[in-house]
Amino acid sequence: MNGKSFLVDLTRCTACRGCQVACKQWKKLPAEKTKNWGSYQNPKDLSSKTIRLVRFSEVMEGGKLQWLFFPEQCRHCVEAPCADVPNNPEAILHDPDTGAVVYTELTAKEDGEAIRSSCPYDIPRVDPETKVVNKCDMCIDRVKIGMLPACVQACPTGTMNFGDREDMLKLAEERLVKAKKKFPQAMLVDPEETRVIYLASAPPANYYEYLEADASGAQPDLITRKQLLAKLGSPIRTIRS
Ligand code: SF4
Ligand code: SF4
Ligand code: SF4
Repeated sequence: MNGKSFLVDLTRCTACRGCQVACKQWKKLPAEKTKNWGSYQNPKDLSSKTIRLVRFSEVMEGGKLQWLFFPEQCRHCVEAPCADVPNNPEAILHDPDTGAVVYTELTAKEDGEAIRSSCPYDIPRVDPETKVVNKCDMCIDRVKIGMLPACVQACPTGTMNFGDREDMLKLAEERLVKAKKKFPQAMLVDPEETRVIYLASAPPANYYEYLEADASGAQPDLITRKQLLAKLGSPIRTIRS
């Protein structure tokens, strides 16, 4: 398999949010009205207007508090479940050169919520007014002319890396060896399944706090991982609780 990939080295992320701003600027996505909800994570969740979001999580691990940062975007799955949903098989494209999973004008005519439901990472978001579903497209317009994705270009710490898939996988293995010296639990997350490979210093679930729509579906509420895992019937560890 070739094409392109990202390596997102979370051990280097300072949560400066330069990547989040650069994404908005390049994609010409409007600002959203936000309010203080007790976290530096702003806005509270991904949306059709915020397709890249730096998540903040506080986790107790081995008696020590960890403050973890997780710049989230579409993973550009090698086998993308979202691409199987549309009635029109040409609505969501797998770019043959890069492997990017790209939503097209035809995607706008499809059931956006069904597309969102199919995503194992809960990435696509539907505009409540236009009903059009949106997500990261790997900055395919930039990449096709030899530029880096805007988020990679903007990152000052080496967290965001992008290039030929084989090179990124090699870099991921090298960075993992170094990371393990300081973070014994460090791991690569889904490197075979996705084109956005995260190098995590802690178990991947520690990077998430989960959002769940309330009964009206209007305003997502933060739920703890403890609550989420309890819902799923899995063993639990605590976060913010
Ligand atoms: Fe599709 Fe979700 Fe995979 Fe992105 S992460 S390609 S939206 S299934
Ligand atoms: Fe945004 Fe482009 Fe980065 Fe995707 S690749 S998160 S669209 S800046
Ligand atoms: Fe992290 Fe780089 Fe994004 Fe800053 S620009 S939040 S360091 S990934």
